[in-house]
Amino acid sequence: MSQCPCHSGLAYSECCEDVIAGAPAPSPERLMRSRYTAFATGKVDYLLKSWHPSTRPSKLDLPENTQWFDLQITDASEQDQRGRVSFKARFKENNEWFELVETSDFERQDQHWMYIDGNAEFILLKPGRNDLCLCGSERKWKKCCG
Ligand SMILES: [Zn+2]
Ligand SMILES: [Zn+2]
Repeated sequence: MSQCPCHSGLAYSECCEDVIAGAPAPSPERLMRSRYTAFATGKVDYLLKSWHPSTRPSKLDLPENTQWFDLQITDASEQDQRGRVSFKARFKENNEWFELVETSDFERQDQHWMYIDGNAEFILLKPGRNDLCLCGSERKWKKCCG
């Protein structure tokens, strides 16, 4: 894997790989990125491990027909052991495209940032025929995935 799945533009080995392997994330944003990568690549164990014990589900089933296409961090802050990250992510589920808009809260425990919860909003995307394709190909929607 060369480019990191979290769309940072960095190589996987310089971005999410170490965090997913167990190294402490240096910031809530980096933890958020590693969790996006884990969602995109089906790493359920890591998603549970990086979930704060107070809100962690006992098990997690990822939907099988979901593909992730983009992540944009719109805001990130941290104060002492608390962090907050706002982001937009784009995904395709079955044949529908959605934008996920979420602000997530994180807490640091023993050097490790962990996800607490977030307020997710899902927006169904309906591009026009001549709009750029949602998959990021830079082709027109009608000539690509539309
Ligand atoms: Zn990454
Ligand atoms: Zn496309």
